[in-house]
Amino acid sequence: MAIIAADIQWRKGAPYSTLFNEFYISPSNETEQNESEFLQLGDFKRRWQGLSKHCASFTIAETGFGAGLNFLSCSDLWLNIAPKSSVLEFFSAELFPIDKAELAKILSQRPHLRNLSDELIKHYPVPVAGIHSIELFQGRVRLHLMFGDANEMFSSISQSPNKEQAHYNRRPVDVWLLDGFAPTNNPAMWSPELLATIASLSDQTTIALTANIDQKKILTVSKNLQSAGFLIQPTESNGPQKLRLKALFSGRKHQQLELDNSSGSTQWHLDKTVRPISTRDQEVTIIGAGIAGCTTAVALAKRGFKVKVIDRHPRAGQEGSGNSQAIVYPKLSPRDDVLPRINLQALLFSSRYYAPFWEGGLGNQCGVISLPGNAKIAEDFIQISQRFSGCGDFVQLIENDELCDRSGLSLASSIGLFFPLLGWLPPSIICQQLLKEHGIPLIHANIDHFNHQQSDSRWHLFDTSENLVYSTDILVVATAYGCEKFEQTNFLPVTQLRGQISKLPVGTRTKSLKTIVCGDGYITPAHDNYHSCGATYNKGLFSTELRVQDHEMNIAQMGHTDSGLGDALENLDATKMDGRANFRCTTKDYLPIVGPVPNFSSMLKDFGFLRRDARADSMMMGDYLPNLYINCGMGSRGLSYAPYTAELLATQISQQIPSLERDLIQAMHPARFLIRDLKKKRL
Ligand code: SAM
Repeated sequence: MAIIAADIQWRKGAPYSTLFNEFYISPSNETEQNESEFLQLGDFKRRWQGLSKHCASFTIAETGFGAGLNFLSCSDLWLNIAPKSSVLEFFSAELFPIDKAELAKILSQRPHLRNLSDELIKHYPVPVAGIHSIELFQGRVRLHLMFGDANEMFSSISQSPNKEQAHYNRRPVDVWLLDGFAPTNNPAMWSPELLATIASLSDQTTIALTANIDQKKILTVSKNLQSAGFLIQPTESNGPQKLRLKALFSGRKHQQLELDNSSGSTQWHLDKTVRPISTRDQEVTIIGAGIAGCTTAVALAKRGFKVKVIDRHPRAGQEGSGNSQAIVYPKLSPRDDVLPRINLQALLFSSRYYAPFWEGGLGNQCGVISLPGNAKIAEDFIQISQRFSGCGDFVQLIENDELCDRSGLSLASSIGLFFPLLGWLPPSIICQQLLKEHGIPLIHANIDHFNHQQSDSRWHLFDTSENLVYSTDILVVATAYGCEKFEQTNFLPVTQLRGQISKLPVGTRTKSLKTIVCGDGYITPAHDNYHSCGATYNKGLFSTELRVQDHEMNIAQMGHTDSGLGDALENLDATKMDGRANFRCTTKDYLPIVGPVPNFSSMLKDFGFLRRDARADSMMMGDYLPNLYINCGMGSRGLSYAPYTAELLATQISQQIPSLERDLIQAMHPARFLIRDLKKKRL
């Protein structure tokens, strides 16, 4: 999970990589400023000045983030000349991230970028493998920092392992910055494999730039670029030592490399209907104003879509998102499976997403302590802390003394995990603020059904009396388990699962609680004279009436988690307790459901061959309903998952390169159950 940090030595006042035997920034003044080389070579000034206001985004992808100098120079120019309504999407892979303090020292050598570097340093992610998407500079730049090997990371954000379909139905990269140290020192960053991956994410408008090729290798790099399908453009030399190259993608892909057709059967997530690239004047309507619907609405509004939200309540966040205190819940694992990877990335993303709310005084970023409850989980915690060593800003293993100090309670557990960046929030207020801040209208209506009309290619939404409530180009269902009532989504295996939280009056011992403590359940620090404590799981119970036995269960869970915590909850009378009961939407594999809605009957037919042979290979793509999407199934983790899944859905709708790996997208895909069930002959 944690990734190896760069080993930097300072030589002649400049940062030097001991692993690659090369300076990040040259100590000699004449040859420095790689970053402005890239700006000139890419002719960015002219290109960005001429960008149409209707252009939603421009995508740069870089091999080797290093100290982020190219990123900051590009951002600086972008902020000065690009249309305010467009976003710079900057993908950059880095296998050996520079540590934050070292980064600050390097960037102090570029005083003209001071404001931008301060913001980058503030939001610089913890050194955890995977993709960290960070919105910077008033949302005008999105940095997708991919901690991992460049070839692996860029392959993982391709649409398919089959390179022919890498950017199928999706925008390509506009410009590549190839900056992975000189080829003599680091041949892997110039390999035919990586260049083929780069080509697969390019189209005829894409250019690739290098500013730092050593003489000895210029021919090899040119040849590899050409083999990958790039045409080398004439450029002036920039000195005797380092050469630069500009190459335009020809559209002819990687003739020299064998196509990887072996994984054709994983193409079910691709839509066989080629859709025109979406435009920002399209209207998107979201049914459901809970945290999933509101975060989706914002992610789409930021991409320029005209967004509306419809809900059966007059205000946002009244059902599953209606508790007054909800926690951004940490659930890590020592294993590397998709569920823990998604949990981890969602947690990191949401803690960045909510930071401005906490800074603005909503809720409390008080930190969360997770207690093991039993010996097996304690063993997992130790392994987790080993895997996340070097990520103390995010998670720390702490012992009893520190547990007591940090929580403010006399806890009995000998160890626990402490997450300083997490906390609690009032989700309904978050929902309302999100809509308000982005000027997104909320329409009060109870949608009973909808259908797609070919005459106008729009979705038509009706209430129970058959009144047409609204029509829209693109529709997103964010109604949690309510997706069961719509004909198009009712095949999804979701469960409506009741949960009750209890409002525990502040006691003489609990009043000192400073952090959230969780284990079997959770308890928050006092707010408005109460602690929120929860929650129960009641299957098959569909009433929101409070139940005394559920209050008792919540209190008992705290005692199971830690006897010291149990003792602190003294003199509580469950019969007089207040609380709230509502419903979660859970799925069989505990993962959310995010993406385009399959045409169930036609996919059943097309993928019927999986019943005979679950491992059968095929280039078959899926069949999806036009412009219909879903975002639901978050169980108890709506607050943690929603910002992350909203971002995924927004990139899918706007046909942008997503900021998460393909296997994670497939793990949350609405068609996954159908494919699994066919393979297991359950359908
Ligand atoms: N673009 C950077 C900037 O503007 O500050 C400078 C990049 S530096 C010349 C090259 C970077 O590539 C180093 O940070 C190095 O750790 C990284 N790198 C080397 N091999 C890599 C690999 N296989 N995958 C990803 N990054 C790699």
